[in-house]
Amino acid sequence: MDLGLKGRWALVCAASKGLGRGCAEALVAEGVNVVITARGVEALEATAAALRVQNPAVQVLAVAGDISTEAGRAAALQACPQVDILVNNAGGPPPGDFRDWDREAWLAALEANMLTPIALIKATVDAMAARGFGRIINITSGAVKAPIDTLGLSNGARSGLTGFVAGLARQPALASRNVTINNLLPGAFDTERLQKTLRAGAEKTGQALDAVAARRAAGIPAQRFGTAAEFGAICAMLCSVQAAYLTGQNILLDGGAYPGTF
Ligand code: NAP
Repeated sequence: MDLGLKGRWALVCAASKGLGRGCAEALVAEGVNVVITARGVEALEATAAALRVQNPAVQVLAVAGDISTEAGRAAALQACPQVDILVNNAGGPPPGDFRDWDREAWLAALEANMLTPIALIKATVDAMAARGFGRIINITSGAVKAPIDTLGLSNGARSGLTGFVAGLARQPALASRNVTINNLLPGAFDTERLQKTLRAGAEKTGQALDAVAARRAAGIPAQRFGTAAEFGAICAMLCSVQAAYLTGQNILLDGGAYPGTF
């Protein structure tokens, strides 16, 4: 199916690796020009080069910087001629016990996983509405639906974003102008972040990494982790012209791990 996105511009945040990169790859495959961001220049430039090889017909711009800072956001926005598609993403907060988190830890989580996406939405959404097309995807987490005990910072900050977006997406000034805002909630995806978590689990328990990974995958009905390509494909579908009537939704991508009917 042609998703109708050829020639559009997307700002894909935190996209040198993992889920963000998966989204950039899927959009580039659809003929979308992209601005990708990440803090580490080397991996970012390598990803940009791979995207240019993947589809030489599109423009790929790489902007190094921390998207959770005002300067990082300004540079990313300035590089993008117009933001038709915004994929909000950033690293997730660290795990731990809430008794150990001070105000600074909470502010960092809120900055990266709530206030940054809101700031980028604020900077782009009215122009999308004026042009009559806009797609905003926030990469959040399955933890928004089923909290993960050690990830309290993530549970809290991402729930704040989710609540805000639920109201914003339903504003007629946006929904009637073909601007949709949806959240993608990853379960377990095989990225560097997941590998890090599995390695930490193996070190803590003294078990082999393979055994820890196999046990985690066995708890998922699909019996495996998701791939960044699968995640990116759903992101591109949500951005498509065909998805214009789908807004304000939280879409769980977890291989069936969430046990509820709804
Ligand atoms: P990943 O493989 O570690 O990739 C993270 C990407 O984001 C890298 O390109 C990283 O590059 C970039 N990044 C991180 N912080 C950034 C910042 N402040 N500014 C700009 N770029 C930044 O992680 P992932 O698995 O794709 O996860 C993406 C998001 O989904 C995270 O918020 C994560 O918590 C969430 N999530 C993931 C899973 C999963 O199973 N993978 C499950 C639930 C939720 P630099 O480090 O060079 O900046």
